[in-house]
Amino acid sequence: MIDFHCHLDLYPDPGASAARCRDSGDYVLSVTTTPRAWRGTLKLAADAPRVRTALGFHPQLAHERHAELPLFEALVGEARYVGEIGLDGGPEYRAHLGVQMRCFERILTACGRAGGRVMTIHSRGAADEVLDALEQHPEAGISVLHWFSGTRKQLDRAVALGCWFSVGPAMVRGMKGRQLLASMPRNRVLTETDGPFARGVDGPLMPGEVGLAVAACGAVWRIDPREAQNQLDLNLRTIGGLADASLVASETRAPSVMASTRSAARSPGK
Ligand SMILES: [Zn+2]
Repeated sequence: MIDFHCHLDLYPDPGASAARCRDSGDYVLSVTTTPRAWRGTLKLAADAPRVRTALGFHPQLAHERHAELPLFEALVGEARYVGEIGLDGGPEYRAHLGVQMRCFERILTACGRAGGRVMTIHSRGAADEVLDALEQHPEAGISVLHWFSGTRKQLDRAVALGCWFSVGPAMVRGMKGRQLLASMPRNRVLTETDGPFARGVDGPLMPGEVGLAVAACGAVWRIDPREAQNQLDLNLRTIGGLADASLVASETRAPSVMASTRSAARSPGK
């Protein structure tokens, strides 16, 4: 299974969550919410070869943690993946959208300077603002919009910009989420849990617990769930290759490879 957005460090027993990933063999992108959490969360996955740890700066924390931006900029050269980053325009965070946008700008600039990164992006209530920023920073890399909840028009714009999407059980439970999934190019879709924030019937989704999302992909693509999983596996290999290429680019200080691979990602999908 592929869980491309999971907060391993925020489960009540992070060590047990990491061990679960190691034993299951699931591919997990372990996202962080502050740059200070990155090194410790990286250690959690030290013996779990299929877990990658993303350097994050959560928009809901921007107004309290903006002093950590220089740390983000110092660490981004070491991180293959970035996230959770983005903007939150929900009622509780809308007042802080100004500081969030300044932080997001700096993060995208830092990713671009590093040669481009694969980024997992939060866009709740702020899809237009997120897409505006991504449009202005194509050098920042490949964007994976996680749990996208915008309109169909915003989705079409994201697709045209080359965005990818990660889709979880909580998103596809509702009709709107399934309709959005049906409109995403299937070669740019990954699965996620967003655990422990997202919940299943028995409580928080555990890392890798994406079965309902795989089934939903099969249903909207009108193929067997095993075939849907094959497509998702192929997508993961594609984006993993892009992430590896970005790190090589930053190590050799070559110009951004992500800018050229991005046009490939933009080609119309199925
Ligand atoms: Zn999240």
